Amino acid sequence: MSRPLVADIDLDALRHNYCHARAQAPGSHALAVIKADAYGHGSVACARALEALPAAERPPAFAVASLEEAETLREGGIRSPILLLEGIFEAAELEAVEALSLWMAVHSEWQLEALLAYRPARPIPVWLKVDSGMHRLGFPVEAVPQVWARLAAAPDQATGLHLMSHFATADAADPGECRRQLVRMQALAEALSAPLCLANSPATLAWPEAHGAWVRPGVMLYGSDPLEVPNSASRALQPVMTLRSRIIAMREISPGEAVGYGRRWVAARPSRIATVACGYGDGYDRHAVDGTPTLVAGQRVPLAGKVSMDMLTVDVTDVAEADIGSEVVLWGRAADGTVLFIDEVARHCDTISYTLLTGVLPRVPRRYHGGFD
Ligand SMILES: *Cc1c(COP(=O)(O)O)cnc(C)c1O
Repeated sequence: MSRPLVADIDLDALRHNYCHARAQAPGSHALAVIKADAYGHGSVACARALEALPAAERPPAFAVASLEEAETLREGGIRSPILLLEGIFEAAELEAVEALSLWMAVHSEWQLEALLAYRPARPIPVWLKVDSGMHRLGFPVEAVPQVWARLAAAPDQATGLHLMSHFATADAADPGECRRQLVRMQALAEALSAPLCLANSPATLAWPEAHGAWVRPGVMLYGSDPLEVPNSASRALQPVMTLRSRIIAMREISPGEAVGYGRRWVAARPSRIATVACGYGDGYDRHAVDGTPTLVAGQRVPLAGKVSMDMLTVDVTDVAEADIGSEVVLWGRAADGTVLFIDEVARHCDTISYTLLTGVLPRVPRRYHGGFD
């Protein structure tokens, strides 16, 4: 028997979540953000599943963070447009941008100069990135009209101009600062008659005013709820990844005995402890506290003791049927349909779903289901 830990990827759930994103923003196009290997789910498999949607429902374009990520998609046979969210990292990449028919963000003066000095056979679609308040990437709002004018005056280099900006606090219940960012961007878009793209997952789910011509959902496609306060739209998301393993050892311990490194968890009653094949060497977060939920036989079972590299331990005292070989779901959907949302696990690890999903390490085999009709 081989090690039982796998990441099951439900491509039908991915398609459901993408269609759900589109339904939240019916007047907008929806870029599918599949950077970071589709948040750890496998970018080629995810892109193929989304490209296989009927023409009216499939993503008009994908978005990634680097040329290498775009190359992987092209090598995997993905033909749809792909936007480089941060554009190029050096001028020499422009040849590949052209050869692979990519769209590029332009966020800095040096990128603008490099593009305007380049002589492509066909102009490159450009999404001008604006710093509307997050202060991470993009041109200052005041500089945008002039940059826009220079791009518009270079039809051999740039085509299909769009305006893009990113919200710093779209997941928060109070949209105060987001609103200031939105007002700045709407004024620019109106002045330049430019198509606008602002909304990440939380804004796609909770803020129709911010939808604009394009939305850019990422984490919601994978079934994580990005909202501080869930709403009816976010509750309809389906988990795409299920991280599942099995119990590989069982023992009974007496009150006062401890489990694992540092004796962090101490039994308060006669306890049955199950050892599970999954650890931080697989990407399960070592910051998980005692009580972090898992699912065993459809029941919620708490982590008991520090996570080790290859194993973790859970307290199955209250689950009589738990035994060697029993399935354990670390996050996702159990065989009986019970769901343990990754957002809940992330809260117990003092982190966000994004780091758990992108942190699942290569030694965990991905197993794909559905997605191809
Ligand atoms: C990652 C990313 C997104 C997607 O964000 P989510 O919070 O995952 O929806 C959107 N836009 C940009 C520029 C990004 O880098």
